[in-house]
Amino acid sequence: MSQPSQNLTVVTGAGGFIGGHLVASLRARGHFRLRAVDVKPLEEWEQRFDDVENLSLDLNLKENCETAAAGANEIYNLAANMGGMGFIEHNKALCMLSVLINTHMLQAARRHGVSRYFYSSSACVYNGDRQKTFEAPSLKEEDAYPAMAEDGYGWEKLFSERMCRHFREDFGLATRMARFHNVYGPFGTWEGGREKAPAAICRKVIEAKLSGKHEIEIWGSGDQTRSFMYIDDCLKGIDLIMRSDILDAINLGSSEAVSINQLVDKVEAIAGIKLKRNYKLDAPKGVNGRNSDNKLIQKLLGWEPNTALAAGLEKTYRWIYDQCVRRQQSHTSTVASAAN
Ligand code: NAD
Repeated sequence: MSQPSQNLTVVTGAGGFIGGHLVASLRARGHFRLRAVDVKPLEEWEQRFDDVENLSLDLNLKENCETAAAGANEIYNLAANMGGMGFIEHNKALCMLSVLINTHMLQAARRHGVSRYFYSSSACVYNGDRQKTFEAPSLKEEDAYPAMAEDGYGWEKLFSERMCRHFREDFGLATRMARFHNVYGPFGTWEGGREKAPAAICRKVIEAKLSGKHEIEIWGSGDQTRSFMYIDDCLKGIDLIMRSDILDAINLGSSEAVSINQLVDKVEAIAGIKLKRNYKLDAPKGVNGRNSDNKLIQKLLGWEPNTALAAGLEKTYRWIYDQCVRRQQSHTSTVASAAN
C-alpha cells in the first residue's frame, strides 16, 4: 500500500465535462500534483493539461482503480457512464454498471488511506412520485426516500451514495456527496446522443440558424420543468462541499426552474431567431417537473448556485456555435478533398 502524498489529488472522469473543468480549476487554484483519469483515449478528452498526470484507464476494473488511487490524498470520483434522457432511458444496464467504478474506487481509496473522497450523485435519485406535476416541485434531500429513483441511472447513484455513507461509517473514509441537478456550460457534450437539454437546444437552434431551416424538434410537450446549473457554480459547490462537514448527500443545483419551452425561448433570444416548434411526444422526456430545494445548502454553506440561466446559456451558446462552425468547415474540407 502506498502512503498518501501530502497533496496528490485525483480526479476521475477527467476527460469529460465536469471532470475536465474540475482539473482546470484545481490547477488554477495551485494544486500542483494532480492525476486525471478517464477511460477515453487522451486525444478525446474535453480538456487536457500537460503538467497533469493523465491516465487512460477503465475504472470498471479493480486493478485500474488501485493504480488511480495510489498515493492520493484526495479523490473526486466523477467517472460514470451517463448522458441526457435519450441515453439513460436506453442504456439502463450500462448506467448501473457504473456501480463498479465507485465500488472499486472506494475500496482503493480505503486501502491507500485517502483522506477525503468526493462522489458526484444526481437529482435522478429522487422519488419519481414527487415529480409528476409540471409545476417544478422543489426536491428536498429527504425526498429521495422512500426510494423510487430514476430507473437504471438513478438507482445506481442512490446505491453508490449509500456505499459512500457506509464506507464512512464502517471504515472511517471521509466521504462527501453532492446531488448535481443538470449541469451545463462550455465543453459539455453537445452532439452524439449523450447531450442534455441545454446543449441539445443550443445546438438545434444554431443548426436552424446556420441552415436557414427555421424549425426545431422538442422532446415531449415542452412543459417539463427543470433547473440548470452553470458549470462555475458546480465547481464552487464541489469545493465548498468537499471542504465542509456535510456528511449526507446534499443538493447542488440552481433553483431557477424553467420549462423546456422557456429554455427554448431563452436560446432563441440569444440567437435572435424564432423557430417553428415540432413536438416529438414519444421521445424520452424524463419526469414532468423537478427543481432543487436549496434551503439546506443555504443553511449549511450560506450560498447556493446563483448564475442566471440567461447568462450561463449565452456563454454555452457561443461555445457550441464555434463547435458547429468548426464541424461544418471540416465537413466542407473533407468533401472538397474527396472530390479532388
Ligand atoms: P461526462 O460524460 O462528460 O463525464 C463522465 C466521464 O466519465 C466521461 O469522460 C467518461 O469517459 C468517464 N467514464 C465513464 N466510464 C468510465 C470508466 N469505466 N472508467 C473511467 N472513466 C469512465 O459527464 P459529466 O457531465 O462530466 O458528469 C460527471 C459526473 O457528474 C458523473 O458522475 C455524472 O453522473 C454526474 N452528474 C452530472 C450531471 C450533469 O448534468 N452533467 C448531473 C448529475 C450528475
